Amino acid sequence: MLGRLVKWLRVIGQDVIYGQHLSGYGLIRAARAEGRLILTRDGHLKHKQPPPFLFIHSDHYRDQLRQVITACGLKPGQAMFTRCIECNAGLQAKSKESVAGAVPPYVFSSQEKFSWCPACHRIFWAATHQQKMLQELKNLGLS
Ligand SMILES: [Zn+2]
Repeated sequence: MLGRLVKWLRVIGQDVIYGQHLSGYGLIRAARAEGRLILTRDGHLKHKQPPPFLFIHSDHYRDQLRQVITACGLKPGQAMFTRCIECNAGLQAKSKESVAGAVPPYVFSSQEKFSWCPACHRIFWAATHQQKMLQELKNLGLS
């Protein structure tokens, strides 16, 4: 239910874990073990003596993102595009030479900076979708 919010938080560089296994007491255990803040839409969580949590009010990811950024005092512009959106690992810089053949030819010829995810091995580069994300944050008044 919070999937889009999770991706957006990773876009701005936040360390966020998410998945089917993170529900009920599994969620509480993981949050305690890793010292994490729980983001939840589950109104019953508070009855389970959870560690610190933030109840997300809205169904809409834009409102959710705004709520989390405000509540946690995040600075969205500081670490954008430093984390893999899919698996949460920190991205590492990769030289242009090393991605030859691994990215489409037009990307290779038009881009200079690449990074990659050591966990899922995806390669990232500045592209139009990053521009759109920046624009979206601007539209939300969050950049
Ligand atoms: Zn990844």
